[in-house]
Formats: sequence, structure tokens, C-alpha cells
Amino acid sequence: MVCKVCGQKAQVELRSRGFSLCKEHYLEWFVKETERAIRRHRMLQPGEPVLVAVSGGKDSLALWDVLWQLGYKAVGLHLQLGIGAYSERSLQVTQAFAQERALELWVVDLRQAYGFGVPELAELSGRVACSACGLSKRYIINQVAVEGGFRVVATGHNLDDEAAVLFGNLLNPQEDALVRQGPVLPERPGLAARVKPFFRFSEREVLSYTLLREIRYLHEECPNAKGAKSLLYKEALNLVEREMPGAKLRFLEGFLDRIRPRLQGAEEVRLQECERCGYPTTGAVCSFCRMWDAVYRRAKKRRLLPEEAEFQPQALVVRL
Ligand SMILES: [Zn+2]
Ligand SMILES: [Zn+2]
Repeated sequence: MVCKVCGQKAQVELRSRGFSLCKEHYLEWFVKETERAIRRHRMLQPGEPVLVAVSGGKDSLALWDVLWQLGYKAVGLHLQLGIGAYSERSLQVTQAFAQERALELWVVDLRQAYGFGVPELAELSGRVACSACGLSKRYIINQVAVEGGFRVVATGHNLDDEAAVLFGNLLNPQEDALVRQGPVLPERPGLAARVKPFFRFSEREVLSYTLLREIRYLHEECPNAKGAKSLLYKEALNLVEREMPGAKLRFLEGFLDRIRPRLQGAEEVRLQECERCGYPTTGAVCSFCRMWDAVYRRAKKRRLLPEEAEFQPQALVVRL
């Protein structure tokens, strides 16, 4: 196994792509591929400020590292979700990464901002933890981006993530979810654009980059993710990929190139301003505000909050 560029001993075998690379040329290839994806899908303008959602896992830290190398003004946004030691370690590793590179890191602590972390939020809202957490993340990341003047938010979603979401969306087909699938979600009033520069990299490819770059990241998965459907879908797709290298990428790109354009006719959902927070929603009050209003009502009943406490949608951002 030799590097296709220099002929030296290869470090990474890219089976689905049919070539291998040494450390130096793998790192170079990975950054260039990201740049190509950004350009081809018009994700970012050269040097544009971008808010990067960073969990402390390998994907988000690798993305922040690459955007930084490519010269974007990439500010990290980390959410402290209050999921015990897991959350504390995720902040530590993110902070260390930012400090080593003198990068700007913004932090929103759910408990500080709204009074409760994910475990209490899930309990009081009656939602499963991942649903309460996902809703909060989407909302807060967007709010911080819009108020911080960012046109665009970048996330570290990789090919395995995207293929698993597509798989799930096809098992329970919903047209609006399928239309929204893709590496770029354009901005709308009150909504920052969302881009996924790593959407063509497999999880293994991102991991190889992280290891070869010696990026320290949080290895553990969120304890709430155990048993999540997305893990089952990833396993199923990995089984197919093992027998048919490249199947995952063909599955995702085939959908994006050939099927999704035919769905684009589906009428774009009309959005209005949430009566509580002013951010776009399909109803009168957005699901984030509705969830927290209900949580506050229940918390007051249980005397976890004083009677006069009122939910304030504005997130408290700490800039490190
Ligand atoms: Zn080489
Ligand atoms: Zn709202």
C-alpha cells in the first residue's frame, strides 16, 4: 500500500475511492477536498466569518481546524448541555483546542441561560432527552448566529451522519424532511444558512484526519445517544459499505443530485415570527418557546422555580 502522490508507505487506505495516501498527502488532500466542497456548493465566501458549532467531538473540532487553516474567521460556539461529566469534559477539550490556536470560543450554558440542563429539561417537558436537546441546539445556535451577525453556521456532519439521516427519512418518508436534506440550507429572514463542509467524508476519513493532526477530542458518545435509531441506521449502512465500497456516497449523492431536485417544487413552508421570541416559526409560538413555557409552568408547580420566574428566550452568551 503506497501513497498515490509520492509512492512512500501509505498511512490511510481510502477503499471507497480506490487510493491510499501517506500522512502528509492525506492531510493535504483532506483540506483541499473540504475547500472544493465549500466552493462547489457555495457554502462560504472567501474569508467569510462563520460560526462553527463545536461539541468537542472529532468531527466538529476537525472542521474548526480545517476552516481555520483555510483562513476563515471561524468562531466556535459550544453549548453546555448539563449532561453530567460528559458535558464538563466536552467543554474542557473544546476550550483547550481553542486556546492552542488562539481561536475565539463562545459558550452558552443551558442551565445558566434558562435554568435547566438537558436532563431536567427532558423530564419537565416530557420529551425524550435527544429531542429536547436537539430542539434546543438548533434554536440556540441559530439565535446566536443571527444576533452575532453571522450569515452562516457550519456543522461537522459527515457522510455517515447524512446517509443515516437520509436512510431514516426514507424509512418514514416525509417530503419536507427530504427537501431539507443536503449540504447547504440557505438563509432566510431570521434563519442563518447551515452548511456541512464534511458531508462527503466518511466518519473514518474524518477520524484519520483528527488522529494524524493529533487533535485531542472527546472520544465518548453522549450517554443519551445509546440505542438511538441513527446508530442502527449507521450500522446497517456500514454493513452495505463493507460489501460495496462507495455505496454510502452513491446513496447520498444519488439522492441529492437526481431525486431531490424533483422535490424542490414542494411549496416552501411559510414562516412567521414567534410571538414570544420573534424567530421564524410555522405556528404562532415556536416549538422552543412552547417547550420552555411548559417547562416553567411545571417547574413552578413543583416549586423548582419561584412563582415570578418567567422564561426569557434570549440566550446568554459567554465569550471566552
Ligand atoms: Zn505521499
Ligand atoms: Zn419563540
